[in-house]
Amino acid sequence: MIQLYAPLSFLGVIYREIRQALTDIERMFTILEQHRDIADVPGAKPLVVTHGSVCFEDVYFGYVPGHPVLKGLSFEVPGGETVAIVGPSGAGKSTLSRLMFRFYDVDAGRITIDGQDIRQVSQASLRGALGLVPQDTVLFNDTIGYNIAYGRPGASQDEVEEVARAAQIQGFIERQPMGWQTQVGERGLKLSGGEKQRVAIARALLKNPPVLIFDEATSQLDSRNERAIQGEIRMAARNRTTLIIAHRLSTIVDAHQILVLDGGRIVERGTHAQLLELDGVYARMWALQRDDVRLDDDLDLQRVA
Ligand code: ADP
Ligand code: MG
Repeated sequence: MIQLYAPLSFLGVIYREIRQALTDIERMFTILEQHRDIADVPGAKPLVVTHGSVCFEDVYFGYVPGHPVLKGLSFEVPGGETVAIVGPSGAGKSTLSRLMFRFYDVDAGRITIDGQDIRQVSQASLRGALGLVPQDTVLFNDTIGYNIAYGRPGASQDEVEEVARAAQIQGFIERQPMGWQTQVGERGLKLSGGEKQRVAIARALLKNPPVLIFDEATSQLDSRNERAIQGEIRMAARNRTTLIIAHRLSTIVDAHQILVLDGGRIVERGTHAQLLELDGVYARMWALQRDDVRLDDDLDLQRVA
């Protein structure tokens, strides 16, 4: 019996490893399939990041010929500053972050980082310089520790714990009976939207890239949890070039510049105060959302009562 048991449990381990590997490979092929026409130019040099300034110069792009999504977008994020992008769903906000990662190439115009056209540098160096906290965070069927450490392969447990603390997920992890070894994902512990987003922020902090992009990173949170995570976003953005694609305007009032995107064009730009003064699209969005937040807070109060 014992003789039989050992090889069988060994097979069980292999089976699990293969399943995990297949999931990852599947995911990889999906990504490769989508973006197979993007290649490095011959002899592409690595991107050299000095200040981390990002520039869109008259960028046109569409997924399908004849259906432009971005129509002549120009803006600059000076190194170390924070620019927020707001606008209705479908305006092209996430598209902009996909272009920065070069999942697609622009149809016209160019995107530069510290003056280097991103089509001229190696994709590995480009993607190494960018961090993304996405709308939906994918968790691997592995431990929570692995899921954070994934941000930078080779990070030590101390480093992982430090970013988990910064993203305010450490306490939650240590309260689990299995702690850092807790299995998460489809067949493990299900994390809430907010917990997943904290994992994504911890991952991004561990990667520590010079340019960080938040894509509606707090869209799944209620306003109370969103306020809690805003502090972490602000900390992550400090001294680093940051693009915040925002759903709720309350997350971006401090941005150096706010761009209002609509129908693939920037229709307004300025600081929060300037845009309120302008009394246009942004000011109307702000007035609407302020009422929503009050409603949310009232609901929170009712829940507590
Ligand atoms: P936002 O993030 O502002 O909500 P997106 O950048 O995701 O908007 O999308 C902008 C437009 O591009 C939308 O009309 C959307 O339907 C379209 N789009 C997004 N991804 C694809 C794709 N892979 N193929 C074709 N059209 C797409
Ligand atoms: Mg989007």
